[in-house]
Amino acid sequence: MTDSTLTGQPAALQPPPLPQPNWALFLDIDGTLLDIAETPDRVQVPARLLDDLQTAEKKLSGALALVSGRPISEIDKLFEPLKLAASGQHGSEWRPVPGAASQSVSEAPLPAGLHAAAARLGNLHPGIVVERKTHALAVHYRNAPDFGSEIGGRLAEAMSGYDGLMLLHGKAVWEIKDAQQSKGTAVGLFMRQPAFADRVAVFIGDDRTDEDGFHAVEERGGLAIPVGQLALKRGRGPAFATPAQVRKWLSDFAMHDETAA
Ligand SMILES: [Mg+2]
Repeated sequence: MTDSTLTGQPAALQPPPLPQPNWALFLDIDGTLLDIAETPDRVQVPARLLDDLQTAEKKLSGALALVSGRPISEIDKLFEPLKLAASGQHGSEWRPVPGAASQSVSEAPLPAGLHAAAARLGNLHPGIVVERKTHALAVHYRNAPDFGSEIGGRLAEAMSGYDGLMLLHGKAVWEIKDAQQSKGTAVGLFMRQPAFADRVAVFIGDDRTDEDGFHAVEERGGLAIPVGQLALKRGRGPAFATPAQVRKWLSDFAMHDETAA
């Protein structure tokens, strides 16, 4: 059973050792902890994952944060009743400690004109899903793959005339976000928090925006752990083949009894 998650995956992908007590763990959500679904609202959160995240957070003395493009309000709905330390909207907002209110990092909300332009793209095809956030927006086209380049082109056009924004291309999604914030700046904020400071920063992620997090941890002598396709692209170091493998690893960590070692 243990090896079944590896079946059909390239032998080169070696999962990392279980977390050390001095790690600070940064976890992307979609495609890392959770399997990607047809639409972002259809992801499944296994009950077991909630328990394992909570235990892992305790074992790391609070040095665990979720780092996502999703708003924190949505992260909280997914992981209810947990309110873990988190960064949302690609670094534009964060919750420094578990249970606290989320705070804006970005200064200004995304201009209304851009939300309007994105909403119009949603009318191109029923498979296009527009996700409106306060400091970002996302246009998903997993169910309308032929529209990918048109969406990207139109968003780029709509953005001209606005400063300080960045267009990102992820897995079947285009996103507009604050150019000043990223998953990397999020890591920087957390590493100044008492629970995280002086620890080995470890970032696990599966998509391009996670590479900002990877740079931030590697800059600090930490460890970047890619998942899936991103692992094949990097081709070095420990990696996970699938979100199921990441969940198994967290679960093994949660169950692991250090005193027995
Ligand atoms: Mg992801």
